[in-house]
Amino acid sequence: MSDPGTGPSREQARRLDAADPLTPFAERFERAEGVLAYFDGNSLGRPVAGVADAMAAFVRHDWGSRLIRSWDEGWMGWPEEVGDLVGSAALGAAPGQTVLADSTTVLLYKVLRALVDHQVALDPARTELVLDTDNFPTDRYVAEGIAAERGLRLTWIDADPDTGVSPEQVRAAVGERTGVLLLSHVAYRSGWVADAEAITRLAHEAGALVLWDTCHSAGSVPVHLDDWGADAAVGCCYKYLNGGPGAPAHAYLAARHHDIPSLRQPVQGWMGRRDPFAMEQGYRPAAGIRALVSGTPPIVGMLPVRMGAQMLAEVGIEEVRAGSLRLTDFAWQIVDSWPEELGIRVASPREHARRGGHITLRHPAFAQVYPRLWERGVIPDFRSPDGLRLGLAPLSTTFVEVWDGLRVVRSEVEAAMGR
Ligand SMILES: *Cc1c(COP(=O)(O)O)cnc(C)c1O
Repeated sequence: MSDPGTGPSREQARRLDAADPLTPFAERFERAEGVLAYFDGNSLGRPVAGVADAMAAFVRHDWGSRLIRSWDEGWMGWPEEVGDLVGSAALGAAPGQTVLADSTTVLLYKVLRALVDHQVALDPARTELVLDTDNFPTDRYVAEGIAAERGLRLTWIDADPDTGVSPEQVRAAVGERTGVLLLSHVAYRSGWVADAEAITRLAHEAGALVLWDTCHSAGSVPVHLDDWGADAAVGCCYKYLNGGPGAPAHAYLAARHHDIPSLRQPVQGWMGRRDPFAMEQGYRPAAGIRALVSGTPPIVGMLPVRMGAQMLAEVGIEEVRAGSLRLTDFAWQIVDSWPEELGIRVASPREHARRGGHITLRHPAFAQVYPRLWERGVIPDFRSPDGLRLGLAPLSTTFVEVWDGLRVVRSEVEAAMGR
């Protein structure tokens, strides 16, 4: 195996770790046997150390001993409480506007439908939903389903998969028929950070509402939903928020949109009803953000989310973001040092302001090489047809890990090319 040419040495990586203020946090996550480099913290974050004990204590005490009394003793309020914690740590949201429930897909459906119906109620001509071709599949499919169900028209912005949607494209796409604009804040493939403030303003000028998908930004890139004037956001809690597989998702709805009869989510369940234990006839939505809840909240899944969000709050999202840029800069520096003939290129924005917490490399051999990487304990995501996505979770990834992992990536591509 050849050495990474003129790029940074492993010793340099070690020294960067020794000097980095975030390195101690890497120890506060469970380490995985046999994993040399985990590059998928943006798909499934590592568990915070202590989650296993907290879960065991929860099962024994809150559930096992307190039994159903725990609903009154706290669980009932968790969707809003843990929601507020995520809102303040990750979303730039003042209290009372964020809730935890369901999955991203289901919450997207509920919030998107509430927004499009509201827009049509205010102006029957606003029957258009604007979205982009490179948004995550679930976002596109949910939008297609709602369009079919409500007789809406979809307008697609053709996004460049190596970058993302620009304000100019949004300006050209939204108009007097647009009800809602649905976009990802950070593109799941390229890591492009949309100019959310400018885009929200442009959409509002056209009379549209904006729903941001915050799956790939919550916990890695500062999100300022209140300051942007965003209308709504939905995202998952198992990526950079370390909530664990199938963790409940977060939804934000700006306070100015609460308690409006025409703005109602469609899954009217008892837990989102005003005074649920009255068991009365007829649905009346709970006040405020609680109205986004449908059935019994997934309490067990909220425990790890709470711990992940607490750690994020302890560090502060601006510090996390600075650490994230240090890691992606370092990865970039290594890839830049590789010979041209290797043919590996970075398909992500170089500019800091537009770069999220992950970068994607492209090479035709990645499809073939990818299983070998997993065998060798290097775990990125493969994104068809030729993308290798490196999610460098800033609190749990070290410089040495980046160095070691990229060395294996390079050697496997060289082997596949017969060098
Ligand atoms: C990960 C991700 C999802 C996942 O949705 P689930 O309902 O949790 O499966 C949705 N949208 C985007 C942009 C994502 O990155």
